[in-house]
Amino acid sequence: MAATKYIFVTGGVSSSLGKGILSASLAKLLQARGYSVTIQKFDPYLNVDPGTMNPYEHGECYVTDDGAETDLDLGHYERFLNIPTSQANNVTTGQVYLSVIQKERKGDYLGKTVQVIPHITDEIKNRFQKLSKIGNYDIIITEIGGTVGDIESLPYVEALRQLRYEKGANNVMVIHLTYIPFLRGAGELKTKPTQHSVKTLLETGVQPDILVCRTEYPINKEIRRKLALFCNVKPNAVIEAIDVDTIYEVPIGMMKEELDKVVLARLKLPLKQEPNMEVWKEFLYKLRNYSTTVDIGLVGKYTELPDAYKSIHEAFIHAGTKNNCKVKLHYIPSDDLNAANIPEKLKGLHGILVAPGFGDRGIEGKIATIKYVRENNIPFFGICLGMQCAVIEWARNVLKIHNAHSREMDAKTQNAVIDIMEEQKSISTKGGTMRLGAHPCELQKGSLAYSIYNENMIMERHRHRYEFNNQFLEAFQKSGMKASGVNPISKLVEIIEIPSHPFFIGTQFHPELKSTVENPQPIFVKFVGACLAHAIEKPVAKEKVGVMA
Ligand code: GLN
Repeated sequence: MAATKYIFVTGGVSSSLGKGILSASLAKLLQARGYSVTIQKFDPYLNVDPGTMNPYEHGECYVTDDGAETDLDLGHYERFLNIPTSQANNVTTGQVYLSVIQKERKGDYLGKTVQVIPHITDEIKNRFQKLSKIGNYDIIITEIGGTVGDIESLPYVEALRQLRYEKGANNVMVIHLTYIPFLRGAGELKTKPTQHSVKTLLETGVQPDILVCRTEYPINKEIRRKLALFCNVKPNAVIEAIDVDTIYEVPIGMMKEELDKVVLARLKLPLKQEPNMEVWKEFLYKLRNYSTTVDIGLVGKYTELPDAYKSIHEAFIHAGTKNNCKVKLHYIPSDDLNAANIPEKLKGLHGILVAPGFGDRGIEGKIATIKYVRENNIPFFGICLGMQCAVIEWARNVLKIHNAHSREMDAKTQNAVIDIMEEQKSISTKGGTMRLGAHPCELQKGSLAYSIYNENMIMERHRHRYEFNNQFLEAFQKSGMKASGVNPISKLVEIIEIPSHPFFIGTQFHPELKSTVENPQPIFVKFVGACLAHAIEKPVAKEKVGVMA
């Protein structure tokens, strides 16, 4: 097999320009041309992983099959490429320093002074190339977090400079994502910030090969020519990335701009075939041409920050298109909800998802919501903490165990229907210590879960410390809440459902993490279908919808 080629994506001028989506879009096009491609992200912060960060700091923590707690961009990579990522796809400065310092303590550096260059940069270069040893990739795309010029990302840029020097410019290339602001007063698009940012990159010895320009307005030939001249790139290597209404449009925009062709020419690779984007285009067509809408409430704790629920949001987009409908997701803070206001607040919603989360803020609002949807036959889907709340609600209101709770919320509870796992009891450190990654789950024949997956055994990803307490299992099963999915090894309950309800399901795992454009997650698909059925049964005037997205 030919040597792996490397594409680095750096960012300039401003953060939040969408390096993750650009990387995923380019990877998609190269994959559609028949190349095997993967993407990795290098984050410049000192946390070992985002698992210990508050969602307000970092948005969702995305979990891979092998149990890595990673950046949410890995979710985009999986959703676009339809291939799994792993721990090796997300590296942080914290991990780099940790391993260098551990090597130093072992004496691996043989008495040398350990320095940023070459020790940290060598470690980074090894990690840049690690995936080529794990999988057979033709091309590895590396997204460098942050913006060029940041002190934090300097070692990454330096390592990339060295790698390009060592491997040659035909094997390592750099795409710089930048921003072309439109100045209203002057009525013009401005290239100067991009020129400055390329200059900053040049100061570190890195010449970008391609500029991808985020812009609100089309960039004309004159601007392309000017950018090419000032930034030492070819005019066809100035790519317009105009604002679009959905991230799923970006690969198509990049294809029109021929980004894939310019990249392959630069890497001296053949075009192979026209990009096969038929499935993608069909998805986009359905995304735009839906026949109906459905209103679903997402009851959670971090509702002012939709990035905290990124994968759930995207899974609903995939599931909506599969059902030929648009899902309007209404984010509802659970601490605003109580038994008295719930009928009003949830009016007009065709289904409710109670979100994952940690800690007791808003927990009673979630439990009261579940009571309401259970008693009113409104489709319900609980994920992780959402499932645990459904268990607490059933214990309190059906089994009449009034003080039932989760040990997470009440350490002294007499009736911990959700309890800490045995192996978690002795763990005191927080990072990477939850039950993480893919675990098997056996489905009960005849259950809703079985009808959704149509399989005996499934694998889904986890991120939690607490579990259904099996001491209560018999009482739950007898009273009508069934454990329809159980871990075959540990016997932990992974799915609960209420067969007498039109659609009521809770999962201890996070199904949203495996939803992709090509493979929408089946529980989401069936849940949206149930919400649609509920909407037809109980049509509601649009203006009655209580809470807006
Ligand atoms: N806080 C709960 C637990 O740790 C649920 C976690 C989650 O929703 N991801 O078990």
